[in-house]
Amino acid sequence: MNDKKVGWIGLGNMGQPMANNLVKAGFSVSVYNRSEDKTIAFKDKATVCSSIAALVKQSDVIFTMLTNDNAVAEVYAQIAEEQIEGKLFIDCSTISQSCSLKTAELLKAKGARFIDAPVAGSTAPATDGTLIMMVGGDAEDVAQASAYFDVLGKLTKHLGENGSGIAAKLSINYFLSLIYQGLAETVLFSEKLGIDRKDMLEIINESACGNGATKIKTPMLVNGTYPAAFALDLMLKDILLAQKAGADFPLTESLIATYQSAHEKGFGQQDVMGIIDAIK
Ligand code: NAP
Repeated sequence: MNDKKVGWIGLGNMGQPMANNLVKAGFSVSVYNRSEDKTIAFKDKATVCSSIAALVKQSDVIFTMLTNDNAVAEVYAQIAEEQIEGKLFIDCSTISQSCSLKTAELLKAKGARFIDAPVAGSTAPATDGTLIMMVGGDAEDVAQASAYFDVLGKLTKHLGENGSGIAAKLSINYFLSLIYQGLAETVLFSEKLGIDRKDMLEIINESACGNGATKIKTPMLVNGTYPAAFALDLMLKDILLAQKAGADFPLTESLIATYQSAHEKGFGQQDVMGIIDAIK
């Protein structure tokens, strides 16, 4: 445990449990969220700040977990207006490499430090502290952040300079988007052939095709309801980011078409596994 003051900006589906784990581990934590209601759960266990400026002022190490490029650019533009020399910023959002690198430059010009640390794993691993942290940044900064990464995740991979964490994250989410589309199509196909969904999922999960992703989504598929743990629109964002970053493979266009059409049909705020109803 160190005596650094930790700040957390962005208490969405992921930020909420991640910040909570730092509180539970005994770190001194301040939180800020644009919509105040998401700070209520922290009222009695952390310092709730009413502005980004207030949070930055009282924190040494500041995490951000935000939706996309626009959110990150907006929040860090405000951060850069503050006195931030010597402070360490760790962005866990899934964004483009260009936005992440621009943010790193912006902060470094002000004497601050920056790590990109996007995560693999959804809300359950975020709650259990078993995320995979994919990290890009200076070795010294990463070493300082390791005390937090150890609480948030089960594995930290320092992959190189700024931008390399994002590169790994876009790659793994490309794979994940294939798995969800493949799982949806397989379940629909088996149903067409008269196989019960529950039986098919049991077969998949016990077979070599079964994995953490298929197992996590099984209860949703069985219930046929898709409350967002990882919103479909976020997956669409990530496939488009992958395409911009150079993914140009036989399945890339097909993935984009499927997730884009699901978004257009109104499935964007549901969990990504809701893709099955959009395909049906
Ligand atoms: P989320 O539930 O939608 O939360 C997004 C957070 O960003 C909220 O706190 C939101 O504040 C904040 N935000 C958005 N725009 C903002 C702005 N302009 N200024 C200030 N705050 C802003 O998303 P999430 O599921 O936690 O995901 C966060 C990031 O992690 C995304 O990049 C996502 O791709 C990535 N990720 C998600 C998962 C997952 O399973 N969910 C897994 C791995 C990685 P408000 O509450 O005010 O809207």
